[in-house]
Amino acid sequence: MSTFTFAELPLSPEVHQALEQMKFTTPSPIQEKAIPPMLEGKDLIGLAQTGTGKTAAFAIPIIETIDPTLREVQAVVICPTRELAIQVAEEFRKLAKFKNGFSIVCVYGGQPMDVQQLALKNRPQILIGTPGRMLDFLWRGTIELNSVKTVILDEADEMLNMGFRDDIEKIFGFIPTPRQTVFFSATMPKAIMELTKEYQFNPEVVRIEPKPAELSQIRQTYVNVQQRNKSKALIQIFKQNQFSLALVFCNTKHQVDNLVKQLQQVGFSVEGLHGGKTQNHRERILKRFKQGATPILIATDVAARGIDVKNIDAVVNYDLPEETEAYTHRIGRTGRAGQSGLAFSLVASHQLNTFKAIQKSQNHRINQEILEGLPPVLATNPGEQKPGLHKPDGRDPAAANNRPRRPRRRRPAGNGHSSSGEVAKQKAL
Ligand code: AMP
Repeated sequence: MSTFTFAELPLSPEVHQALEQMKFTTPSPIQEKAIPPMLEGKDLIGLAQTGTGKTAAFAIPIIETIDPTLREVQAVVICPTRELAIQVAEEFRKLAKFKNGFSIVCVYGGQPMDVQQLALKNRPQILIGTPGRMLDFLWRGTIELNSVKTVILDEADEMLNMGFRDDIEKIFGFIPTPRQTVFFSATMPKAIMELTKEYQFNPEVVRIEPKPAELSQIRQTYVNVQQRNKSKALIQIFKQNQFSLALVFCNTKHQVDNLVKQLQQVGFSVEGLHGGKTQNHRERILKRFKQGATPILIATDVAARGIDVKNIDAVVNYDLPEETEAYTHRIGRTGRAGQSGLAFSLVASHQLNTFKAIQKSQNHRINQEILEGLPPVLATNPGEQKPGLHKPDGRDPAAANNRPRRPRRRRPAGNGHSSSGEVAKQKAL
């Protein structure tokens, strides 16, 4: 809990009014720590994930320090994805709603340049966007950054992961010094330290717990299922639960498209979101999901990164993420703003070791869920497995028993309820 309310912060009446309208009464921890030094013009590194209120943490001080009578870009926010850039711009617009003479423009790839070029004619004070499109406009001379006082890198670690370092450094080259340089990042890899040395001056480091408090509100379970039965398991999850909004993660565009087709065929209202779709299409899909018109969204990580949709009841990892950090990020899409949420992971036998690492990183038990009509492949919790019990080739656990393996007898066809233990259950899948 914050030690002060927004009302106690020396903010303008217009921002107080906006905060009231947005129903923000108490600063989140990252806001409490980042707003005061940012208002003082200090360089800052904010270690916080999406969902912690980091956008307002940098948007409020920017809005407060901009001169609305000067029609020049005074603050630049660089984001890794179009979705995040759009979302950040929306939050800025809400917070600056009662300030007169403010113009905020968002530029990103995937939309014709002329539409954005027209918006830039408005001479915005705040420019938000993805690095590539921002550079396009800078090279064309459509935007000038000579009056910029503050530059923010949002999700800086993600931007570097996506290979934007060169573009970022080129953009910095257009912004005069001295200036306020601020990085927000979920993690602090070496590459960020290097950028810090190069571009920041004595930055204040503010850090909040790596996991948002909301994670404790999420009930996490896993379903041990054969790879080929994952779509059946997903359908069963949807049948057993009444979700208003559910987000399903896959690792590839192809898998997203495939799964969308399979679920549509059995009558679910579902859409897919991935980087292979045009920007306008992605925005429409996201809007329908946010409004609940399409209650199930199947997405890749890149497309879903940073999206802030409230009231997601459940997240399903159809494919397991490759990194444990991505797991935390994915499941954090549910259980937001103190609400409860469910997170399911569909784990094939050959993925149990990967899942064990995820479970360790969560510091918290992830129970196995048994789905009706889909008996588990293995009945044990992966956190309790002895090393070597799960063969990466997905062979059944009897192989790891020290008893000699008896040749398996064929069961008569149609016997779905054999009492011969896990091996039979596995067959029944
Ligand atoms: P972010 O981490 O910036 O994506 O913010 C996550 C969500 O929290 C967004 O929907 C914000 O509008 C909301 N939010 C941010 N700050 C506050 C606050 N102080 N009180 C309540 N909600 C907030």
